[in-house]
Amino acid sequence: MTKRALITGITGQDGSFLAELLHSKGYEVHGLMRRSAVPVDQRLGTLAHFVQVEHAELTDAAALQEIVGRLKPDEIYHLAAQSHVQYSFQAPEVTFDINTTGCMRLLEAVRKSSPESRYYQASSSEMFGEPRETPQRETTPFHPMSPYGVSKLAAFWACVVYREAYGLYTTNGILYNHESERRGEDYVTRKITRAAAAISLGLQETLHLGNLDARRDWGYSPEYVEAMWMMLQQDKPGDFIIATGETHTVREFCEVAFAHVGLDWEKHVVVDPAFFRPIESHLLVGDNTKAREVLGWQPRTSFDQIVRRMVDADLAKLRRANAD
Ligand code: GDP
Repeated sequence: MTKRALITGITGQDGSFLAELLHSKGYEVHGLMRRSAVPVDQRLGTLAHFVQVEHAELTDAAALQEIVGRLKPDEIYHLAAQSHVQYSFQAPEVTFDINTTGCMRLLEAVRKSSPESRYYQASSSEMFGEPRETPQRETTPFHPMSPYGVSKLAAFWACVVYREAYGLYTTNGILYNHESERRGEDYVTRKITRAAAAISLGLQETLHLGNLDARRDWGYSPEYVEAMWMMLQQDKPGDFIIATGETHTVREFCEVAFAHVGLDWEKHVVVDPAFFRPIESHLLVGDNTKAREVLGWQPRTSFDQIVRRMVDADLAKLRRANAD
């Protein structure tokens, strides 16, 4: 029997990789999207030939219930979110409405209209914020440090409550930062790789960044969406940390990216207070033992490989754009 999946956030980095993964496994893939003036095919790109589009806002409980009830998906991957930590300080209420109440609306839709669906919640390392132990495990107490972290933590608990109260299959993937050539350009990694590529091609001179000492546990997105799928293949739902267990600073990221195009990052990077945050998460690094042991998952692509792959993709993209 063909399995049916519904992915929210299908146009994002993870949504697009996950859609491709599920399609390659023979799933019928449905993607939830907001209505927008930009044509669907343009927003979906190469996914357009196999993804079936459903239109709804995460603020529209009735529409979510109609879609979930009609499709009765075997698996629902809830990836849609206001996913910018920095922006969440400017728009805490919007962040909470989309990330937390949006999750509750979707869970209610599942409970009322498709209780057999397996539900994956995109939880985040930001829920640990200022961690009580390092590396963090599934048992580490939470202490978010941003409105984004608070919103994701409330959604995490909503999933646990729906699991325990109603017996729904809800799983939380607590994913640490994960990057790729499809990462949005506001994230520091893609901002750096795009700038390194542009500077090497003579299209840009400087790169303005915030805190160069910030550290992150950066993994490779295509491997992280595999973990999402693996989680929903388990007999029982649960909560899993997906991380590399290694951290690097923004400075190191710059070093590797600029060196890859033969440049000295220090000649081009300007530290700009505009990109500093009111508070920062510290020492976010995940212990992936449970994912290794229970799912058989492990990261494969190294930090240097991720950085270089992203720079190469940006070089190719900028060359194409400038050849036109
Ligand atoms: P996040 O972990 O989800 O917030 O991912 P980001 O890629 O946005 O940020 C990762 C880290 O890079 C944070 O600690 C930021 O403070 C730091 N950082 C330093 N400069 C910048 C910048 O110019 N833009 C962004 N987005 N982050 C920066």
